[in-house]
Amino acid sequence: MNTNAVVIQAQDLQTHFALRSGVFSALTGQKPVAVRALDGVDLTIRRREVVGLIGESGCGKSTLGMSLVRMYQPTGGKIRFFGDDITDVQGAELKSYRHQAQLIFQDPYSSLNPRLTIGEIVEEPLRIHRIGTAADRARKVAHALDLVRVPASEYLHRYPNALSGGQRQRIAIARALVLEPKFIVADEPVSMLDVSIQASVLEILDELSKELGLAVLYISHDIATVGYICDHVAVMYLGQIVEEGPAEDILTAPRHPYTQRLMAAIPSVSGERSRERVELSGDVPSPLNVPPGCRFSSRCPYATDLCRTEPPALANDIGTQRVRCHLYSAEGMAPANEPEMV
Ligand code: SF4
Repeated sequence: MNTNAVVIQAQDLQTHFALRSGVFSALTGQKPVAVRALDGVDLTIRRREVVGLIGESGCGKSTLGMSLVRMYQPTGGKIRFFGDDITDVQGAELKSYRHQAQLIFQDPYSSLNPRLTIGEIVEEPLRIHRIGTAADRARKVAHALDLVRVPASEYLHRYPNALSGGQRQRIAIARALVLEPKFIVADEPVSMLDVSIQASVLEILDELSKELGLAVLYISHDIATVGYICDHVAVMYLGQIVEEGPAEDILTAPRHPYTQRLMAAIPSVSGERSRERVELSGDVPSPLNVPPGCRFSSRCPYATDLCRTEPPALANDIGTQRVRCHLYSAEGMAPANEPEMV
């Protein structure tokens, strides 16, 4: 298999949630209303690659993760898995895809069934997918626990309440790995863990991505952990990606005014980046009523008339980064006017 093959690809992906249905509209005469949670997202993740997805709360990060693993049904665009269009697959094909695309949740305290032993929790996906004999499943469970450095001999018969938060999250990762997936969405997987154990869990995720050839989408508010684990970073704002590129370049030399403000909003104490959630000034426009031009124009200090009328495309290649901003396009300002960090 190609070592850096494209595993998962979103192409112009849209996920809209109807607030007022067509039937309601027909009865009341009011227009259908939809929250445009994802509105034209393009993203590619390859084998052995960890892609970080950052942005403020409500920007669509989790919706993108849930859509890519088909927990939400996209309303437009395409999802390709190793080149195959899986956007609308149903039944056995959807089950087969979900076998290979797994989700790790934020909360290791509520995501593990307290009535099951660790062995039963990790085995559960194999039972659901009716994989192997009891002996096969026992081998796979032991191997998955080994991958997350939890000794099966010691933990197999314990219950989640006997484990620390870090151990629980390792079990959640083992449960995702037992099906031998090719793609994992990790949605804030360490945000509820003590800072002292976050690094060890992230290390495991990163190593597994490289060892097993996994494509990982790492969703986080914590830009420090994104820098620690990610190869590539995508920045979301109001349902769209506004900047993407190699992690080091995005985190050290952000180009989009929104990314620059995200970075500038992280207070620095003794050289350490904060792990607090990032909040920026100004109101985020409603995804029910997105601005006609650039979605960031109501909060951007560089906004021009062009910005307020023409939506920029994610097409302006600046070095290794792609940026959705008129500042970098022929119609906008000259690149010489590129903004300094604000
Ligand atoms: Fe700011 Fe205009 Fe760039 Fe949008 S397109 S981020 S409003 S400069």
